[in-house]
Amino acid sequence: MTSPVWHPFTQHGLGEPIPKVASASGAVLTTADGLEVIDAISSWWVTTHGHNHPRIAAAIADQAHRLDQVIFAGWTHEPAEEVAAELVRITPEALTRVFFSDSGSTAVEVALKMALGYWLNRGEPRHRILVLEHSYHGDTIGAMSVGARGVFNRPYAPLLFDVGTIPYPVDAQATLDALEAECRAGAAAFIVEPLVLGAGGMLFYAPETLAAMRDICAAHGVLFIADEVMTGWGRTGTLLACEQAGVVPDILCLSKGLTGGAVPLAVTLATEAIFQAHWSETDRSRQFFHSSSYTANPIACAAAAANLAIWRDEPVQDRIDALAAAQARHLATVGGEGAVRNPRALGTIAAFELGAGQDYFSDLGPRLLAHFRERNLLVRPLGNTIYVMPPYAITPEQLGKVWTGIHEAIGRFGG
Ligand SMILES: *Cc1c(COP(=O)(O)O)cnc(C)c1O
Repeated sequence: MTSPVWHPFTQHGLGEPIPKVASASGAVLTTADGLEVIDAISSWWVTTHGHNHPRIAAAIADQAHRLDQVIFAGWTHEPAEEVAAELVRITPEALTRVFFSDSGSTAVEVALKMALGYWLNRGEPRHRILVLEHSYHGDTIGAMSVGARGVFNRPYAPLLFDVGTIPYPVDAQATLDALEAECRAGAAAFIVEPLVLGAGGMLFYAPETLAAMRDICAAHGVLFIADEVMTGWGRTGTLLACEQAGVVPDILCLSKGLTGGAVPLAVTLATEAIFQAHWSETDRSRQFFHSSSYTANPIACAAAAANLAIWRDEPVQDRIDALAAAQARHLATVGGEGAVRNPRALGTIAAFELGAGQDYFSDLGPRLLAHFRERNLLVRPLGNTIYVMPPYAITPEQLGKVWTGIHEAIGRFGG
């Protein structure tokens, strides 16, 4: 009997093996048949410290015995209060309100709805959303609408709403001019992945450009939404990528590493002005109309509280700095290879293209996947874009094995 499970982003017809993972620790996954696989992509960008961090695991177990779930409309609980207070403390001062949801996509949906609610409740409805070319914000209809149109969402294109697309900053001035023109024409919000466009191909751009984009939005009163679902929690070398540009967004989306990658949870932080636009002492219809069954699930919040405690108590920044230095060293060793194009590193992320162009459905993709699988490495290139984004607990030896596998891939396919 074949499995009834329908996997995400998987072409079942190709018959590629689907290993069964039984356990994990640090940067290593152990399969049901005993293979040890190095997780070089943090299980799709979520695992920050390492798999099964003992403090997060203990917090989950403890909370599961205390309070598993409770309605969050009109009720609260200690783990949510603790996480919200700590998030407000560690993020820019202007962000004073925390709305919980369950995934990066829903954090983005919430951000867009907050922006539209803000403008409607102020009595000046605005609906146009501005986005950056090649961006990715999730797979629900609204999140896809603000993401790049392409192979990921072609079947659904007729249902996606129209947005204003600002060119990716190959030429920063052209990007800023386009944003200025769109803001002048009137828009509710601009949503952006700060410094790194992840699913768009690990594309980087300068902090100065991010800061200039933020200033343009502020000058026109267009709300600035930072989607730090991937870039948050140290990935780019700092807790938030926005910090490197001195940028304070109006709305901030966080998920993936919020629980250290253990269980699903997301937050959308907002400024007091956005919260106040939904406030009324008489009119219930101004409230924010969003909820999901598991909003602020206590077990997930307990995991997030443990993650925040780890950031406070453990030398997380030192681990990130050490990993960033190691990644830069390894990247330098492939930089001289003729087939390697655009080698780049930022914080814990290193990436390059193998061969010409950048193509998600490059023939190379499946061959690279098989190459890494044969070596017990979890590396999942975006087409011919190879990147390494490991958990911070990866050891120098494990990271060395990942890059050895990459050198072999360059030798095998780069000719
Ligand atoms: C992964 C990602 C999302 C979507 O998060 P999910 O939890 O997969 O819904 C949104 N934005 C960015 C920048 C992401 O990398």
